[in-house]
Order: sequence, then structure tokens, then C-alpha cells
Amino acid sequence: MELAARLRAGSVRPTEVVEAALDSIAARDGDVHAFLHLRDRTELLAEARRLEDAPRSEWGPLAGVPAALKDNMCMEGSPCTCGSRILEGYRPPYNATAVRKLRAAGAIILGKTNLDEFAMGSSTENSAYGPTRNPWDLGRVPGGSSGGSAAAVAADMVPIALGSDTGGSVRQPAALCGVAGLKPSYGRVSRYGLVAFASSLDQIGPFARSVEDAALALSVIAGPDPLDSTCSPGEWRLDRAELDAGVRGLTLGVPESLLGEGLDPEMKAAFHASLETLTGAGAARATVELMDPSYALSAYYIVAPAEASSNLARFDGVRYGLREPSADLLGMYLSTRRSGFGPEVRRRIMIGTYALSAGYYDAYYLKAQQVRTLIRRDFERAFEQCDVVVLPTSPTPAFALGEKITDPLSMYLNDVYTLAVNLAGLPALSVPNGFSRAGLPLSLQILGKPGADGEVLRVGHAFQKLTDHHRRRPEGMA
Ligand code: GLN
Repeated sequence: MELAARLRAGSVRPTEVVEAALDSIAARDGDVHAFLHLRDRTELLAEARRLEDAPRSEWGPLAGVPAALKDNMCMEGSPCTCGSRILEGYRPPYNATAVRKLRAAGAIILGKTNLDEFAMGSSTENSAYGPTRNPWDLGRVPGGSSGGSAAAVAADMVPIALGSDTGGSVRQPAALCGVAGLKPSYGRVSRYGLVAFASSLDQIGPFARSVEDAALALSVIAGPDPLDSTCSPGEWRLDRAELDAGVRGLTLGVPESLLGEGLDPEMKAAFHASLETLTGAGAARATVELMDPSYALSAYYIVAPAEASSNLARFDGVRYGLREPSADLLGMYLSTRRSGFGPEVRRRIMIGTYALSAGYYDAYYLKAQQVRTLIRRDFERAFEQCDVVVLPTSPTPAFALGEKITDPLSMYLNDVYTLAVNLAGLPALSVPNGFSRAGLPLSLQILGKPGADGEVLRVGHAFQKLTDHHRRRPEGMA
């Protein structure tokens, strides 16, 4: 990472870097609204100064690098709202494992970023604290649910931010904001301290401008954790040789049948141009058959709400945040949840509770889990013919604020290209691969075999060495 290297070389000091990041936030966040909470300036500068005074030998790989966290990850003493009124006033007494590792590597966490309430959504309009705006066009959404983290990186407020991806919430906002976003293999990054949405799908992943920086961030936050039993036992280290290996000798699987209906023509043209770029650099290509994404969409919108309905049962006015007073205990539960949760979260809780209830469990939840197994096998078959699968990340570029918020189904359709990845536990990366005539970022998604995070990063890095889409900046944000 260029900034980390400059810090290490002493050409810029951590306090200067933190000052510059805070100035950039002060100048732009009034328009963008990427942050829900910024830590106190004096406290941040003191943290930077402590680093400055420490011997260089003690500096970690991200020493002095400003970072931001989606506001569904716990950081000791800072608010953690999940974009919801129900967590108003809650300050976790501990750090998420990914947060602890980021800080141990020397990153300076400036604050918490906006999100769709409890990470449910694709536009960041479901936040109880108002939407985030896309730095490329303030009339458009940044994508979601990690829209604040994506916008903070796109607007050059921070070089690195973390998001969480349950069905696309790192990749889709990365796509709409023109930055790199990685959803690691399931189990690669500990979920300890990430407020659970759908535990069998959730993964924390990094945003950065370059794939190289995203890879560095992953190497810091990845690895086994005794506090999360679903975390993979193996360490994940950044293998420089693998990252730089280029695409020669790799086969790209292209699911041709998924590139028709609903795909924006400019997205499609950019996708084919990217294929040319990669095959021109020595990659082979093979057509692969993948199941129609409507199956993933249907399975996801049963499994995710089912898990959410159970995970969100803990927000009852007793243990965390908001409490609406009432005459009796049941009344307090009901009125707290009624005023604390927004419409999308309530919709998910109702769908999930219904799908899990006696008499419907077999017809919905169990069926969805069976479809999930078929989706995993479908990918296993595709990966017999290729090393990575390539797809667009999102069917369209950023849409206008307000355009889809009243139509949940059209909002859910944004995730057609991202959901299956989470159901199958695969790693997948989104990188910018062009711009629409209106100047909005377009995107390429690279999917790998379970555990092959290094391979998707390798392809993404090779793509960025061949192109310069990732260097373009939104006007006024450079
Ligand atoms: N947009 C999807 C949803 O609303 C995915 C969200 C996510 O990945 N957190 O559930």
C-alpha cells in the first residue's frame, strides 16, 4: 500500500495523515453522509502521536493508515447503531475480532459508517439516520448495505473500510461507488463482534481503491478465532507471488446464459471488454452453465430472513439500546420493537418467522436449504471447467435515490449476481471495469472456489494492472 509505505519511509507522519483524512471528511461528508459517528479528533490525534513516538520496528502493516467500519461491527466504547433506532445509545464493551486485528496492525479507525438497517437492503436508504449519497452523483444511491464504507473510500475520506456481505453488501456498493470490494470465503474472517444478520451467510470484507490494498486488509483481518467456531482453522497470508502472477494459465468461466435479461447494455459491453482485456493477457475462457439466479434469490429470501428473525429476537428493550416504557413487560417488548425497527427489518422478521413456523418449515425453510445445496453443487460443477467465474456485480449502475425504495422486489433484484456466492460460501471480488455515458462506475465480479481468496485477488490485481478505471476519481473528491 502506497500510503503505508510513505508512512514507513517517514515522508508523511501519522498525525498529518489523520488530520488530512478528517479534513477531507469535514469537506465532503456534509454532502455524502458516509459516517454515522466520528471519533473525537483529540483522541484520534493522540493515537496517531503514540504511533509516531513508537519505534518503527513495532509498527504493523497498516501503521498510521486511517480506516472506517460499517456500523454493525463492535468497537469498544464507540456507538454501534446498525443503522437502527433500536440500538440508539448502545456502546459495546468489546472489540470485534476484525476490529481488534485492524487496530493491532496500526490502522487508525476514524469512525463508523452508514448502512441499511441491520444490513438489510441494497441502497443504504433503509438507515434510520438518513441515506448516504453516491460520491459520483449525489442524486444516486451508493448501493448497500455497506454504502457508507464504499462511499467513504470512493470519496477519498479513508483508504480502507470494512463492510459486511450477507448477499452482496460489500460487492454491490463497491460496484456502484467504483472501488474494489471483497467478500471473503465463508469462515475466512471471524464474525465475532459483527452484529449477526444471517449467520450462515455473513462475512466481513474490505473496501479499498486497489485490489492490492484490499488484499493487504484481508491479510490483517483473516485467520482462525477461538471466539467464532465457524471460522476456518487455516491462516490466510498475502502471497505476493500469487497476487502478481497474472492471468496466464487461468481459465475464466463465463455463464453466458445469465448475461441476458435485466442486464444493462453498458454493463454488458463493459463486461465483454473486460473479458477481452483478460484473455488478451493470456487467460483462457470457457462457457459454463450456472443455475438461473432466480433460485438463489428465492432461497436467499427465505434463509436470510429466517436467520434474521432468530438473530434479531435479542433486541427486546432489555439488553441493548432503546426501551419504550410500558405498563407491563410484554407491552414494553412490543412497543420497543415497534418503534425501534424500520419497515424493511419488520418485513424480514415476519417473512422469517413465517418460514420457520410449524407447518411451513418443511415447505419453505427446508426447501430453501435443499436449493442451497444444489447451488453449491452447481458451482462445484462449473469450477471443474474453470478457475474463476466472471460476472457483472450488479445488473445496473447506481440508481436514483428513492427510485426503488417503495418496491422491495425490484430492490431485491439488485442482488441477482451476488446472492448465490453467499449461499455457496465462495470468495468474490468486485472491481470497477468502466464508466457509463452518465459517468457512473460499472463493475466486474470475480468468483472463486471456496478458500481460493488468493485466486480472485490475483485476477482482480491483474485486471487493475491492465486498466486504470480504479484510478478515476469522482469530481471534486480527488
Ligand atoms: N441486499 C441484500 C439484502 O438486503 C444483501 C444484504 C447484505 O449483504 N447484507 O439482504
